[in-house]
Amino acid sequence: MNITEKFLEKNIYSRPGTKLKAVEKIVIHWVANPGTSAMSNRNYFNNLRGRYASAHYVIDINGSIIQCIPTTEVAYHAGNSEWNNSSVGIECCHPDWTGQFSKATMDSLIELCSYLCQTYKLDPLKNIYRHYDVTKKDCPKFYVENPEEFKKIKARVKDQMKSDGEINLKINGKLRKVKGFIKDGINYVKINNYDIPIRDVGESLGFQVSWESSTKTVIFDDK
Ligand SMILES: [Zn+2]
Repeated sequence: MNITEKFLEKNIYSRPGTKLKAVEKIVIHWVANPGTSAMSNRNYFNNLRGRYASAHYVIDINGSIIQCIPTTEVAYHAGNSEWNNSSVGIECCHPDWTGQFSKATMDSLIELCSYLCQTYKLDPLKNIYRHYDVTKKDCPKFYVENPEEFKKIKARVKDQMKSDGEINLKINGKLRKVKGFIKDGINYVKINNYDIPIRDVGESLGFQVSWESSTKTVIFDDK
């Protein structure tokens, strides 16, 4: 997951600097502006005058994530002050007016929601909402029109949370789970707070190292 912090300048329209009461929910949005980038949407929030809008995160069509507001502060995304005071808002860019997210956007959304659910002890099946669920606004459009697709997002977040924090390692045919994580396609193990690419560990121990993508398993075999 690749998050770039580009915090908005404090201003009354998009970053009031009010302390968030708690993070109890996550609200998902579409930017409703096909083909625009996360950065252009971030800059739009930064330059707003005369109306109120913002979100904590914007996810680009290419999957990169821009954080506009710290999750300790209120963003104006839910159209409801009670929700704004107790939720994190995520805006997703989209290629066209159907509002369906690209695969890269979706993958980042799953990772980001998983990270937030773990950090704030949220239940992905209960605490992730569409903007529509708050105010009946047609947002995020594709997932309002296709509620089953939104259920799939929540289920994927739950799956992702299960797999976060450990990786599958098979040594000479025997599977075990080890403390670690996957970042940018590389499997790392955690050893005494050091993050070490598991390939380096295997190779330095003299194993032949391979990767089985169907089961997301690192394989160590005797040479
Ligand atoms: Zn919205």
